[in-house]
Amino acid sequence: MRTLSIFNSLTRTVEKFEPLNPPLVTYYSCGPTVYSRQHLGNMRSYLFADTLKRALEFDGFTVRHVMNITDVGHMTSDADAGEDKVEMAAHAEGRSPQELAARYTQAFLGDLEQLNVEPAEVYCRATDHITDMIGLIGRIIERGYAYVAPSGVYFDVVRYRACGRSVAEAKGSGRPGRLSRQRLEEQHSAQRLEHAPDKRSPHDFALWVLNQPRHLMQWDSPWGRGYPGWHVECSAMAMKYLGETIDLHSGGIDHIPIHHENEIAQSESATGKPFARYFVHNAFLVGSEGAKISKSAGRFPVLDDLVAAGINPLAFRLFCFAAKYRSELGFSLDALKAAERNLYYLWGFTKVARPEQPDAPFARDYYERFAEALNDDLNTPRALAAALELVAEAYRRSDLRVWQTLTALDRVMGLRLEAQLNYVRASRLPDDIQALVDRRTRARAERNFELADQLRQELVARGYEVRDRRDGSSSYAPRWS
Ligand code: AMP
Ligand code: ZN
Repeated sequence: MRTLSIFNSLTRTVEKFEPLNPPLVTYYSCGPTVYSRQHLGNMRSYLFADTLKRALEFDGFTVRHVMNITDVGHMTSDADAGEDKVEMAAHAEGRSPQELAARYTQAFLGDLEQLNVEPAEVYCRATDHITDMIGLIGRIIERGYAYVAPSGVYFDVVRYRACGRSVAEAKGSGRPGRLSRQRLEEQHSAQRLEHAPDKRSPHDFALWVLNQPRHLMQWDSPWGRGYPGWHVECSAMAMKYLGETIDLHSGGIDHIPIHHENEIAQSESATGKPFARYFVHNAFLVGSEGAKISKSAGRFPVLDDLVAAGINPLAFRLFCFAAKYRSELGFSLDALKAAERNLYYLWGFTKVARPEQPDAPFARDYYERFAEALNDDLNTPRALAAALELVAEAYRRSDLRVWQTLTALDRVMGLRLEAQLNYVRASRLPDDIQALVDRRTRARAERNFELADQLRQELVARGYEVRDRRDGSSSYAPRWS
């Protein structure tokens, strides 16, 4: 079996990835807070998680992937202060928190589908796991790392840092955080800490919030009616579905100093065992050029904005794949269009591919190059170069027998090459495209030209040209052929 090397934020080194019970890998990645559409920055995080999972599958592992859907308890500040994001947005939109969360969960899953992200084995909603969270909080209290105050149950950060497993390291406010390597004073200096008067220390964070009568979503608990904090949901759900020690945990780098630090503290103080063996983090998508295509300036675009601009969602997938996950990535339309050209270059190969023949021997080198790059801390730009050069070499040699290799690589790249081949072979539109065409035909018959235009844009974004004739008929052909 090949071995992936990956940068482990816990040790800050690139390590060989060795799960506890191969070939199984238990994997938890932090999911969305469903109070608004997830933007393209968020999507980078989910695409990274998907590529990591596909890379492990490429290496022969079986990945059990769990992702949370946060629908309660995530406050407007990661450090517990402010209002619950879901409740605040529900109020602003005049809906119930449940309606709002259901709506944005649907939108989120739809975005993942468009980006060809493999569904997680488990998507778990925070509000479905209140009992598990209450159980975990009880264990933390029993072990002396949490206390009950009138405004809530708090995790005793100072005691944990001072008395945790490595007491010898305790100095001042205790051990530095495992992930951020910061002492408490540094960790929180950048933030204004909302100091509930009954917290023992401003660094303590809420496991369970009490006495907030205006909060709509509330549950009974041994400590009174209230609702859970955000961090505790990830610990409770990760352990419920994956066990007390999981192999792999991921999220964006913004989660290092608070959210993941707190997840580790809660979980390890409850179990006395290591929580996650590898923590991996993706860098941010940045830049403002995207503002040009966003509906309101200052907001990071969402996937629908790209579709409205005629850009294939899979071009965004390829754009992220073409960058290293640990490097900040600047968003630009030019770069996206370049990614789209590469996408259509690979799709175009389906017209000449030889799927029924075994591959020519030269393909093997490119497979090896791809695998080696991928396993080298997910060097996806180098892996992509190997895939593109494989196709270029096939054209150069006029020997087009590389399909088995290309589709093996596409199981990681996720560009739906097989679906395009089926389209070319059957000379009929893929089902999802045909469904859009049917809806557009209906819209035109009903003279709903606004909807028809919107559907045209969607078709263009999926790579299809639309031609409307004078007689009212239309034809649809792939732009990449
Ligand atoms: P949130 O809904 O804020 O909890 O974010 C969901 C995921 O997106 C988390 O893993 C974040 O770390 C990640 N994330 C947020 N903004 C960006 C960004 N600009 N680039 C990459 N990842 C991001
Ligand atoms: Zn989390």
